[in-house]
Amino acid sequence: MSRLDWMDAALCAQTDPDLWFPEGAGQHARTALRVCAGCPVRTECAEYAQQVEDSADGRRYGAWGGKSARQRRRQDAATNFRDQQIVRLTKQGLSAAEIGDRLGCTSRTVGRVRKAHRQQEAA
Ligand code: SF4
Repeated sequence: MSRLDWMDAALCAQTDPDLWFPEGAGQHARTALRVCAGCPVRTECAEYAQQVEDSADGRRYGAWGGKSARQRRRQDAATNFRDQQIVRLTKQGLSAAEIGDRLGCTSRTVGRVRKAHRQQEAA
């Protein structure tokens, strides 16, 4: 089983691909996002989109995983801000639970961000 087997159930594969990449002023991906809303692999797709776009210099284009490019950029900005706050509060000596309470995320998320930050610092 491939880690991309979920794509077999992707609803977008059964529609016009141009819907996901609207071009021109006033064009938007509303129809695509409606299809995404009913897609059974939306979670997997959104995670994959983030991986691919992060490795592509953070460029966001078209609808993907149930979100427009603008929505994904906003989500990334919010996540980046939260991650910066986790690093800052960690340096102040707060526990993962305390940071999670302050920022409205789980201790597990705090741990994941701390680990990623340590790996970045070591690289
Ligand atoms: S959620 Fe992803 S896989 Fe599903 S229709 Fe939207 S873009 Fe396609």
